[in-house]
Amino acid sequence: MDFRFTPEQDLYRQSIRQWLEANLEPRARGIDEAEDGIPTDITEGMASLGMFGVTIPERLGGLDIPDEERMVYAMITIHEIARADMSMSTPVYTLLTIGWAYIINKYGTEQLKELVLPKVAEGRCFCGINTTEPGGGSDLANITTISLPEGDNYVFNGEKAYISGPKECAKWGYPSGHCTLSRTDPEAGYQGFSFIYVPRDIPGISDHLYKDMGRMGLSTGGFIYKDAKVPKWCLLGEEGKGFYVNMDGFNAARIIVAAACLGGAEKALEISRDYCKQRVLFGKPISKNQGISFEMTNDWMQLDMLRLNLTRAAWMYGYNDANPGTFSRGELNKVVATCKCLSPTLGHDIARHGMIYHGGFGYTKDTPLEMMLRGIMSYEVGAEGGLNIMRGIICRDEFGDEFNSFKD
Ligand SMILES: Cc1cc2nc3c(=O)[nH]c(=O)nc-3n(C[C@H](O)[C@H](O)[C@H](O)COP(=O)(O)OP(=O)(O)OC[C@H]3O[C@@H](n4cnc5c(N)ncnc54)[C@H](O)[C@@H]3O)c2cc1C
Repeated sequence: MDFRFTPEQDLYRQSIRQWLEANLEPRARGIDEAEDGIPTDITEGMASLGMFGVTIPERLGGLDIPDEERMVYAMITIHEIARADMSMSTPVYTLLTIGWAYIINKYGTEQLKELVLPKVAEGRCFCGINTTEPGGGSDLANITTISLPEGDNYVFNGEKAYISGPKECAKWGYPSGHCTLSRTDPEAGYQGFSFIYVPRDIPGISDHLYKDMGRMGLSTGGFIYKDAKVPKWCLLGEEGKGFYVNMDGFNAARIIVAAACLGGAEKALEISRDYCKQRVLFGKPISKNQGISFEMTNDWMQLDMLRLNLTRAAWMYGYNDANPGTFSRGELNKVVATCKCLSPTLGHDIARHGMIYHGGFGYTKDTPLEMMLRGIMSYEVGAEGGLNIMRGIICRDEFGDEFNSFKD
């Protein structure tokens, strides 16, 4: 068993880190403060190094890498972007786009893949996820948006809330959009859900924006559908199987969400390490106080455990796609949900600890720690599934149906 990255993976990691440190890191504060999102020259530079192509086959403009390693490359990509933009704006923008592009490639029709994926790989298309509704995001079995089949289209009516990316869809235009959970057969319970890619730029769709507390370079908003007609070739997987396709997509997305939390947290700990070495109080650097150094050590230990488990999750997911059935849905769910449950709170704790080591300086915008804390909280309150939902998944899949809190 070899736990190291392959030489090719490591070379990729090093090359993107070098570019991101030189080009993204100095701009991260500006991205958090400006109103116009992530600058185009940044996404162009990322695309030129293949960062948007890691989950896309080479024939559709993606990177020439083995298919079963694509999730590992996605994890490396997001980890490195998050080290450079601790506000979480650029990592989340990228993880949504490459994560849901993976699902479009896995389940989409050839027409949909050819339309969307080459543009994603070029860095000129946003892809997101569209499940949450004003009535609740955790209990997805109760969503009410409908998409009734009519001729060659699905006709959407309903509303979605707290969705990342409305402004980014407007920036890039057609075919930017969202993988959307809706009911094609409202009477059929779980068997009536379908998962459909909905390009934003379709008549009958309107949007509105929220004012977030963090990751300011990426917009969050809601969509209203009034008789919006989406072509049937935008279906992902089979009609009526949408709930399962969506859950599979969440596993892919949650791996790279955890990679974003890990990258930001790792960088925050390095910033604190460097600061504590040079801040002298009571005649010695504050790093000599075990009240600080042991807390940093505890944080490092948990980060290292997360790094290992996350690498396992990314490997398992890709391996399972290449060798279906190797791991059961429950086995994969537990490993992924563990990473998604632990990583945001660990990142939050490491940012908060670092702010406290920095004293008054830590409360200013002269360190990136406060924007990390604001950004990472999105994953604690719920984006890509709340922490208790992750606990519920693990509890159900480890201890059995008697412990299933998702149904009576
Ligand atoms: C910045 C941001 C970006 C987002 N982007 C997207 C996006 O792009 N696409 C998208 O579809 N959604 C997105 N969301 C929404 C996110 O997925 C939801 O916030 C999340 O699923 C929780 O849903 P909710 O907000 O309706 O909370 P609710 O579902 O109302 O839950 C409220 C609280 O109850 C807890 N809870 C629920 N059930 C249980 C239970 N059985 N046991 C114990 N506790 C429970 C939850 O964990 C949560 O803490 C985003 C959210 C944020 C904050």
